[in-house]
Amino acid sequence: MEAAPIRKVKRVIVDRNLCIGAGSCVVAAPTVFELNGENKAVIKQQGSVKNSGPAEKEALEDQAIPYETLLTAAQSCPTKAIIIIDEQGNQIYP
Ligand code: SF4
Repeated sequence: MEAAPIRKVKRVIVDRNLCIGAGSCVVAAPTVFELNGENKAVIKQQGSVKNSGPAEKEALEDQAIPYETLLTAAQSCPTKAIIIIDEQGNQIYP
């Protein structure tokens, strides 16, 4: 049996309307997510950019973040506010 292929993340988005500031994503991936003053998750990008995205993988501050960690962070969100898109433009999660 072949191992499942590792899917490559292209883009990360936080749906600000869904985010309730639970902070689970920050715990799971602190190099990528943090809460802003409005208690909404923002994505840390190069050049001190912090917003809800869409954020390209190449623009993330933490370029080396493993796909699994991003997925775990998205899965930890109680409201499924984190959207992950792969290189083919397919939504990996949720
Ligand atoms: S886990 Fe979800 S609800 Fe909580 S801060 Fe992150 S995006 Fe927002």
